[in-house]
Amino acid sequence: MQIQIPEEILPADGRFGSGPAKVRPEALDYLAMRSDIMGTSHRQAPVRDLVRVVQESLNELYRIPDGYEVVLGNGGSTLFWDLAVSSLIERRSAHGVFGEFSRKFAKAAERAPHLEAPLVSEAAPGSVALPVAGDADAYAWAQNETSTGAAAPVSRIGEGLVLIDATSAAGGMDAPISETDVYYFAPQKNFSSDGGLWLAFASPAAIERAERIKASGRWIPESLDFTVAVKNSRQHQTLNTPALATLLLLEDQLGWMLELGGIDAVAERCRRSTSTLYRWAQERDFASPFVAKATDRSPVVATIDLDEAIDAKQVIAALRANGIVDIDPYRALQRNQLRVGCYAAVDPVDVEALTQCLDYVIERL
Ligand SMILES: *Cc1c(COP(=O)(O)O)cnc(C)c1O
Repeated sequence: MQIQIPEEILPADGRFGSGPAKVRPEALDYLAMRSDIMGTSHRQAPVRDLVRVVQESLNELYRIPDGYEVVLGNGGSTLFWDLAVSSLIERRSAHGVFGEFSRKFAKAAERAPHLEAPLVSEAAPGSVALPVAGDADAYAWAQNETSTGAAAPVSRIGEGLVLIDATSAAGGMDAPISETDVYYFAPQKNFSSDGGLWLAFASPAAIERAERIKASGRWIPESLDFTVAVKNSRQHQTLNTPALATLLLLEDQLGWMLELGGIDAVAERCRRSTSTLYRWAQERDFASPFVAKATDRSPVVATIDLDEAIDAKQVIAALRANGIVDIDPYRALQRNQLRVGCYAAVDPVDVEALTQCLDYVIERL
């Protein structure tokens, strides 16, 4: 049975993935316009200027405190966990685990033979857990748990470094950077770019920590050595070859965000989109926001549970057949759920249209 959604209620753009996510068509036009830079050396001025503009724009977007540096390298946020285990955690870390991404970092620390077993505070998916201050030198959690659609506050805990996974928060939520030592992310979510890079705002304390660990003689693979990334980033370079298209898309998106009015304007746009979905769910007797506590609900990734009588898989398949894609729940969660990425590039008007399409499909299943 094929459900044909009428053209007039379809969103203009049907990409609602939680990562990778919608790339603005204007960013792709910009990429085509800058095609002269593709295939040229990342050690030469044109690419280093591009990296410098990305660093300066990020600095402006988050008004990062004096002394903090914008550091970047290859491998995305997953690589950054391994880098933190190798180069930033001295003896023991403490983690808030409330979904699959925050769990992966805790696991990476747990498996490291040179570290003591991490302190883990865990909460069921759909709520939030913060690390507890104790005998640890690094405190880690995610500002936005992309796997569940729960968002956590960002403020200092304990005496050690505060390492915030902002992969899906950065560019869609504000954060007090002075309350963190490393605020790290990747460009394929709010930044409407492609994957493969990690970027981080690093405090002087984080850089000093990495230098001290290196000086202690610990074996650190070069690609996981934060001091090497810092040294390269100061020269607007990366240790090894970066994807230039990723940097160009990121540059364009940052310019667009700043023009829109900066982080406040972008955060408001995301919040408008997620609020539309939460309201829609609350007004339907067959749907409800997965995250029970309203203050824990993510302003960038909305998770909506459906009544057992409606098969979310069928809803998702029917929408996909009409060009509305990637609203699947995180696979490990195994819930009868929709998960909608409402990142900066997504038009809040398209989210309104999505709710109309959901009603249309669910009525006809
Ligand atoms: C997407 C995501 C990651 C993984 O990012 P990669 O760049 O694919 O490694 C990590 N943490 C969070 C919170 C994410 O949303």
